[in-house]
Amino acid sequence: MQSISPETIFRGNDAWEKALPQIANLTNSPLVLGRSVDTNNIKNKIFKDLKNRDLNVNSANLQFDCCYEDILNVKNLILNNNNDSVIAAGGGKVLDSGKYIAECLNIPCITVPLSASTCAGWTALSNIYTKKGQFIKDVALRSCPKVLVYDHKFIQTAPSRTLASGIADALAKWYESSITSSTIDDGLVQQAIQISRVLRDQLLLDGEKAFKAPFENNSSWRNTIEACGLTAGLVGGIGGEKCRTAAAHAIHNAITQIITPNKFLHGEIVGVGLLLQLRLEEMKNNNKLADQSIKQLLVLMKQLNLPTTISELGINVFKNQNLEKIVDFTCRDKSEIHFLPFEISKQDIFEVIANFEQQKIKI
Ligand SMILES: [Zn+2]
Repeated sequence: MQSISPETIFRGNDAWEKALPQIANLTNSPLVLGRSVDTNNIKNKIFKDLKNRDLNVNSANLQFDCCYEDILNVKNLILNNNNDSVIAAGGGKVLDSGKYIAECLNIPCITVPLSASTCAGWTALSNIYTKKGQFIKDVALRSCPKVLVYDHKFIQTAPSRTLASGIADALAKWYESSITSSTIDDGLVQQAIQISRVLRDQLLLDGEKAFKAPFENNSSWRNTIEACGLTAGLVGGIGGEKCRTAAAHAIHNAITQIITPNKFLHGEIVGVGLLLQLRLEEMKNNNKLADQSIKQLLVLMKQLNLPTTISELGINVFKNQNLEKIVDFTCRDKSEIHFLPFEISKQDIFEVIANFEQQKIKI
């Protein structure tokens, strides 16, 4: 079974207003789920608009992350309130929690991404973390959200850092899916890989303009946020599991195991993982294009103020056995690293990361 996309998608400047009548038909008592205080204004607007439609609305905020503790609390709240849908309004963690909770309770989920930082508003997938933000596992859901509301006015209010993070996460689609799935003899998978290539080209063309002057380059900005929030989700929907992740995400998951005082966004960590994946390809798969890709990506990543080494994520890999911890988690049995078409040993990952961090790569 494959769920390719949300049942209905509203996109553009008035997407929320346009979606309201359908949402009012779908639910009598929604729970609006959020997390950050920075998005309180939008969540209050969503709450009020639903109330004005005579719906019996409740709201809740995640306390930590998309973690079992928060999931249990929100589930109990929904059961007590008798809510018949979840409206998840926020970034990836909120969207993933909303989808997971709605599926457990067999009620519809409506996703309202409030930034372009991930494609979680689209996908039938939830990543589960600990309270402290350490990756545990991803859970494949039965279906994509019932309704996705991609309101550009909402997304415009998000900090530019979230856009940079979304660009890095979406760029990874091409580099991960093309290496893991290029030998799969399945038309849909091949077409998904080609979409991810066009997606990457679009981001290389428009990403910097969108990031630096979102309001002057409105079409670049619009294309970029839709590439990150919609197209990236479509690639996963059409291509299925193997089109989703490889080394970049495996290394992301491992890096989240190290707790740091400053939290970094999903795509910020994936971007570093992507550079490491390409080094690995160069070393193990004799991929001559990998070095060129690294140089090309580094130019864009610097323009977007994205971290490009693990040390820029606030982690010294040469202290506290951090490197060993990252290597162990990257190579654990269930890791996506094993989707790579060549054998990887712990020693390989160790060498790649150690060299990468020592060199402080230059463009
Ligand atoms: Zn991702």
